[in-house]
Amino acid sequence: MRGFSTNAIHAGQEPDPSTGAVIVPIHASSTFAQDGVGGLRAGYEYSRSANPTRTALQECLAALEGGRHGVAFGSGMGASDVLLRVLLKPGDHIVIPHDAYGGTFRLVDKVLTGWGIEYTPVDLGDVDALRAAVRPTTRVIWCETPTNPLLGIADIAALADVARTAQARLVVDNTFASPYLQNPLALGADVVLHSTTKYVGGHSDVVGGALVTSDDELADKIRFTQNSVGSVPGPFDAWLTLRGAKTLAVRMERHSDNAERIAELLVGHRNVEKVYYPGLPEHTGHDVAAKQMRRFGGMVSFTVTGGSAAALAVCAATELFTLAESLGGVESLIEHPAAMTHASVAGSVLEVPDNLVRLSVGIEDVEDLADDLRAALDGLRSP
Ligand SMILES: *Cc1c(COP(=O)(O)O)cnc(C)c1O
Repeated sequence: MRGFSTNAIHAGQEPDPSTGAVIVPIHASSTFAQDGVGGLRAGYEYSRSANPTRTALQECLAALEGGRHGVAFGSGMGASDVLLRVLLKPGDHIVIPHDAYGGTFRLVDKVLTGWGIEYTPVDLGDVDALRAAVRPTTRVIWCETPTNPLLGIADIAALADVARTAQARLVVDNTFASPYLQNPLALGADVVLHSTTKYVGGHSDVVGGALVTSDDELADKIRFTQNSVGSVPGPFDAWLTLRGAKTLAVRMERHSDNAERIAELLVGHRNVEKVYYPGLPEHTGHDVAAKQMRRFGGMVSFTVTGGSAAALAVCAATELFTLAESLGGVESLIEHPAAMTHASVAGSVLEVPDNLVRLSVGIEDVEDLADDLRAALDGLRSP
């Protein structure tokens, strides 16, 4: 079996047979010529159903997650929507993380409940709590690890056991870890989901999503439903995502190096209350993370002394860390979850501390990042 970066650079990406182009072309064509009715030259007919640039990306992502089938979508939420249409019917029950990604919570809470789906938010770091929440109608256990924004860790292999016993499917949203740091299928998950907008694309220039599974029947249903509802990525988006994926391993190593250094700086700073980073030995999920992840990734959250005003001041005072939502790009970002990414969950079980700051640590020179953050925390720069 080939290594991760060899797959990232070569899987699904043979030189173009008609021109020798080393890089997979952007096949900007909605339709494909037929040699006589039904005589497809390479299996392609119409680009909602399939497009060669998208196929290359799908084969690459499947290889990176160690799955048989990859399906690329126009966004992470498009992937979630299609998957849940396939796995749930009215009367069914789904368990979601109590700190689920806000968009996933909204899809389940605001859209799926209207179609007769019931859900229970659970702290998936607690396997007994999951067992207690499972019902005879539970068809899906939806997991994120690490979680957003508190970097909680769930034991994927333990959740897979619970799912098997319950005859439910375990879905792992692997966006925060990326396929380089964690491969949930190998730990017993049925389907892996990515917002490829984040680390896989890696350059904050494209929105996309993906599902990977080794279940042939499930993959057929996913493709059928995707073609029915039309949530596909365009060829240029597929190409940009594939271009990003080639460097995923080197980027994740650097993200992890930089985040470890930043977490260490935060732990020692007098204006910081608590640091959430699974690489820290005192993190409650550290041992599980060390078991199932290659390294600990680029996301770091922390609470500051002085409440939400102080958190907002820190977010306003950094210069290199750009104030923005999203994550996983080469550039460092800072945000205030309570007022930004998690504003929609205020007052729900997903509410986050209002003095919390979330960092997406980029791959810049780490001492520049450390200086920037230290100055903001010291209050040396007024916002
Ligand atoms: C961003 C994100 C999503 C949604 O993906 P989009 O590409 O924005 O639709 C899902 N899960 C996680 C963990 C995310 O960070």
